[in-house]
Amino acid sequence: MSRFKISCPARIIFRDDEMRMMAALDGGFQLEQLLYCTLEAGHTSLHHTIAQGVAGTETTPPWSLHARWGDNPHGPERELVRLDDCPVTSLPGSVQSESCWLQKDHEGRHAYEFGPLAERRRRESALRG
Ligand SMILES: [Zn+2]
Ligand SMILES: [Zn+2]
Repeated sequence: MSRFKISCPARIIFRDDEMRMMAALDGGFQLEQLLYCTLEAGHTSLHHTIAQGVAGTETTPPWSLHARWGDNPHGPERELVRLDDCPVTSLPGSVQSESCWLQKDHEGRHAYEFGPLAERRRRESALRG
């Protein structure tokens, strides 16, 4: 547990149309209207978070909808986009391994190295059953 906020403090508040679009996806998360950037504080690329997970089917693998935005969250860089997840895990081959959950080729350290994501991830997978 850290007393210091080490992930980026930028946040995005999804518009109602974005919430409806994400709710229509066959996802695994409970939708949150406000999300914080999940990159490490001080990064220089666009702010970023995973916005929704989409379940796979027999023929398609699961995928993630990512949100990214600039310093003005309503600016032109804002988008919801399908990106590959970072493939790196903390303990490859172990059941205790933590996924990174940032986008592929992200800036900074992996999420499990600094963020509160590990705890959030446990809650989310519990919700998913
Ligand atoms: Zn950020
Ligand atoms: Zn990573």
